Amino acid sequence: MGFDPVERSKKIENLVMKDGERKYYRFRYSLYYGGIVTADSVGCNLLCAYCWNYFKNMRLEKVGDFFSPEEVAEKLVEISRKRRCDLFRISGAEPILGRKSAEHTKEVMKLVKGTFILETNGILFGYDPSLVDLFTDFDVLVRVNVKGWDEENFERITGADGRYFHYQLKALENLYGKVRFWVAVMYDLFGEEGLSELKKKLPVPCRIEKEYLEKYSFVVENLRKRGIL
Ligand code: SF4
Repeated sequence: MGFDPVERSKKIENLVMKDGERKYYRFRYSLYYGGIVTADSVGCNLLCAYCWNYFKNMRLEKVGDFFSPEEVAEKLVEISRKRRCDLFRISGAEPILGRKSAEHTKEVMKLVKGTFILETNGILFGYDPSLVDLFTDFDVLVRVNVKGWDEENFERITGADGRYFHYQLKALENLYGKVRFWVAVMYDLFGEEGLSELKKKLPVPCRIEKEYLEKYSFVVENLRKRGIL
């Protein structure tokens, strides 16, 4: 049986958050979304077989340094000026692991003054709707990466107990009408069948983005080990 991602959120948040500061290991401009200023962080409540940051997220103690929201914003704004880009995100990790990390993310958003794409798996937004309220006053677009189309596939892909899949769907309900959002799915794993299963379960209308596997050798190996490929 998979792990409890809510319990894991608490443990991971305690490792990557300290006195309002969060662990990051890189600040960069990336070409996703047509160009976006990116802060790469570590620490996630899931363990997706295809996670590009799998190994860093498994070695949290050894990766990155703690940065305050002011320090993160300063680095992002500097890149933003150089690149003339006012789109921002945090990547490589789950930004919302609980209240401490959510408050930190909110502070970064407040300071960078641009459009923020909040990439999340939504587990904590589903578990605690009050976390959504932190983001209603910002220029934010939430991209919820839904990991499966049923409990079984959610468990196989994320390593988490399939019974927690419903928090991903609940997150959409909690975001609806409060914060702009869309859903992303790993189409290489879903296929048309998985996608149509998920569509039947979506609690609210939403746009679905298809994303595709980056087939690093460790990703292929992880997928094989989980019986997905
Ligand atoms: S939710 Fe994202 S950051 Fe977390 S393990 Fe999955 S792919 Fe990696």
